[in-house]
Amino acid sequence: MNKKCVYIYTIGCQMNVYDSEMFKKVLRPLGYIPVDEVEDADLVIVNTCTVRKKAEEKAFSFLGRMRALKKKNPELIVAIGGCVAQQEGSAILRRMPYVDLVFGTRAYARLAAMVEKFEYDRIPVVDVEMTMGITDATPIPELDAEVEVSRFVTIMRGCDNFCSYCIVPYVRGREESRDPDAIVQEVRDLVERGAREVTLLGQNVNSYGKKEGLCDFPELLRRVSEVEGLARIRFATSHPKDLSPGLVAAYRDLPKLCNHIHLPVQSGSNAVLKKMKRKYTREDYMQRIENLKAVRPDIALTSDMIVGFPGETEADFDATLDLVREVGFSGIFAFKYSDRPHAPAAKFEGKVSEEDKTRRLAKLLDLETELSEKRNISYAGTTVEVLVDGHKEVKGVFQWTGRSSCNRVVNFTEAGKPTDGNLVGKVVPVYIETGLPHSLRGVLR
Ligand code: SAM
Ligand code: SF4
Repeated sequence: MNKKCVYIYTIGCQMNVYDSEMFKKVLRPLGYIPVDEVEDADLVIVNTCTVRKKAEEKAFSFLGRMRALKKKNPELIVAIGGCVAQQEGSAILRRMPYVDLVFGTRAYARLAAMVEKFEYDRIPVVDVEMTMGITDATPIPELDAEVEVSRFVTIMRGCDNFCSYCIVPYVRGREESRDPDAIVQEVRDLVERGAREVTLLGQNVNSYGKKEGLCDFPELLRRVSEVEGLARIRFATSHPKDLSPGLVAAYRDLPKLCNHIHLPVQSGSNAVLKKMKRKYTREDYMQRIENLKAVRPDIALTSDMIVGFPGETEADFDATLDLVREVGFSGIFAFKYSDRPHAPAAKFEGKVSEEDKTRRLAKLLDLETELSEKRNISYAGTTVEVLVDGHKEVKGVFQWTGRSSCNRVVNFTEAGKPTDGNLVGKVVPVYIETGLPHSLRGVLR
């Protein structure tokens, strides 16, 4: 078989990172080896995101650059996958005739067949079929002898929530959970190849298995935590409206479950939350946090926030700032509201000006930096357990890098301690000397 090269450019969320790994796996039997330089590729895939307009523009700008490359090498195959492909379908081929393959969010299982057919007949293919039964989602075994220390595992696809601003249910389809046996098998497979941590992915992991009558999410966590050799479990994303007593109990009972939860609140104003169709109030949200803190008093909390949602007043925004202070989030992903096709909010009145969105975003991010630094400083003088995932050299000084259970980036030196040479994949105690705005610095204990 001829050795061929594939370059994959991934935009967007962790799910896209996971899907891009899948692309590599399904293409390997056709002889495709991943490469780091687009110029070396026989096949270029851009895996796209459309959750905000900016991400969509990034995909088209990358594809625009492919025109010149294709001119130089007419044999090059150019493919677009993921959410923009799902949203635009064959319109992409009309707009960019040098694109060869358009495949949607549920077509990765058919990607290899698509590429093989195109290699043979050079007829462009568009596949944005939403059909993908649970059997399509069974794991494809890892091909690499060794994998990274921390890996993503998608446990469900799609979303049934229809928050009024969000395009995800339209481009990723209805919620569909994978079989728990297949998930556990995939985790085992990754651990055998060196992974020590998995992050279980879904748009709303709390509703895992409900529709299909599979086990529920806390039970899945229990089953995954039984995998020998796995040190840590994380998950994303948990929708606050569905955070159940069962999940709180999992935090109480499962030591492998990391001391962190990403619980996107989006806004601190009840009026805005209602218009967003989030189906919880600020008070409900605070109650969920109380419940979690009852079993994990020092749990780290992070969130997604949208500023400038249609109709958001200065008072609504102040309520968001106030909530952020009250919770003391250790990290926030904040976004300017962006109109999306299909999403009802695109037609809402009271659009906030770009200027106000920019100002509010900057204010929120300043507060985030302040809180994150405060939290990090509070770790100084303590010892944290770090899962080591790599190393680097800063100004000639060798440093190990990793994350604490509460998801802080930790850089540390050995400070003369004897080690067996390679700490990657090990969980080690690190004494924290300094808390910086976005990381911790320490020495091996
Ligand atoms: N399912 C997750 C949840 O409900 O928490 C979120 C998934 S979404 C891909 C990631 C984040 O993008 C959301 O939490 C939200 O903050 C942001 N987002 C989604 N639609 C947006 C829009 N139209 N404009 C700005 N931000 C948006
Ligand atoms: Fe979008 Fe809401 Fe679904 Fe999250 S829960 S993916 S924000 S519709």
